[in-house]
Amino acid sequence: MKDMATTTHTPGAGVFVDRIRRAMLDMCLDDGESVEEVAEKLGIDFDTLLHDLRALERGPDGAKRRSKADRARRTSNQKRRGLVDELRDRRRFMEGVVPTGQVNRLAPADAKGTVYPKTVKTWRYMDGDAILKGGEMNAKIGGVVTKGRLRGARIFTLTLEERKTCPTSCAMWRSCYGNSMEKVTRWRLTPDFCRALAGSIRALCDLHGTILIRLHILGDFANENYVAFWHEQIEANPGLHVFGFTAHKPRTKMGLAIGAIREAYPGRFMIRHSGTGGPWGADVIDFPTTKQTIAGATVCPEQRDSIDAPQKATHCGSCGLCWAGDTPIAFIQH
Ligand code: SF4
Repeated sequence: MKDMATTTHTPGAGVFVDRIRRAMLDMCLDDGESVEEVAEKLGIDFDTLLHDLRALERGPDGAKRRSKADRARRTSNQKRRGLVDELRDRRRFMEGVVPTGQVNRLAPADAKGTVYPKTVKTWRYMDGDAILKGGEMNAKIGGVVTKGRLRGARIFTLTLEERKTCPTSCAMWRSCYGNSMEKVTRWRLTPDFCRALAGSIRALCDLHGTILIRLHILGDFANENYVAFWHEQIEANPGLHVFGFTAHKPRTKMGLAIGAIREAYPGRFMIRHSGTGGPWGADVIDFPTTKQTIAGATVCPEQRDSIDAPQKATHCGSCGLCWAGDTPIAFIQH
C-alpha cells in the first residue's frame, strides 16, 4: 500500500494529506480500534505512525494525552487566528455564469443519475483525493467569507451525484444545472467516503478554526443516515458551518429532519428548501432580472450583478445572504 507521507504532493497538499491521515487515525482510535489495526488499514509505516501519534498527543498505544478542555482551548485559539489570517478574495476564476432564465440542457426522461456517469468517483484512501474542494475554485462561491458574522471563514464545496441522491419530487429533476457540468467530480456515497469526509472536516476545522461548507453543489441528502451524519459533524466540530439547498420539502420526513438540525444549531446549518417560499425558502425564476426582489424573495445578488454590474465581482463569500438569515431567495434558471 502507498505511504501517503512519502508521496510527491506540493508542500501545501502534503500537509493537508498528513492532516487527513491523522484525523482518520484519531477517529479510528476513538472508535476503539487498535494502533496496529489502524496502521495496517491506512497503510501507515512505523515511523510515520509514531510521528502521527505524537502529533495527536497520544502515546504509542494510542491512548490520549490531551484533555478535551485543552483541545477546545486550542480550537478556539486557532479559530481566532483563522478569522484574522485568511481575509482576501482567493478565487482562481472571476467570471461566473450569466443566467439567462433558460434551461441549458434537459436530461433524458428516464435519467436516474448524472448524464456524465464517468465523473462519479468512489473515494479511496490510496488515491489521496481531497473530497472537499476549496471554494476559490468556483467563481460563484469564492474561497473565503469577507463580511458578516462568519467573516474570515474558509469556504469549501461538496459535490455528490445529481438525481441519484435527490428526491424524485425535485422540480428541477430533468433541468438540473449539473446537466452542463461535464468536468466536475461527483462523489459516490459509501461508508469509507463518509469516514474520510468526517476526517477532512475535522482536519479543516483544526487548520482554519471556522469553515463554511456549501452542500451540495450537485446532489442532495440521500437518506436519513446521511442527514444523521451531518448532525454528528455539526455536533462534533464547533467550527463547522454549512449552507446550501435541499429539494426535500420542509414538511416531509427528510425535510423535518434537516429543519431540526437547522433549529438545534442556529447559525450553523443554513440549509434552504428549494421550490418553496417563506422562511428558509429558495425558488427558481425563468427569466433574467436585475430587480432586487421578486414576489417577496431576494434575487441572488451574484446572479443580479453578473448581468449588469460584473465589476462588483460579487460572489457568495462577499454576499452571505444564504447564511445571514431565513429570507427567501430567488435564483434565475441557468
Ligand atoms: S444569495 Fe448570496 S450567498 Fe446565496 S447563492 Fe447568491 S451570492 Fe451566494
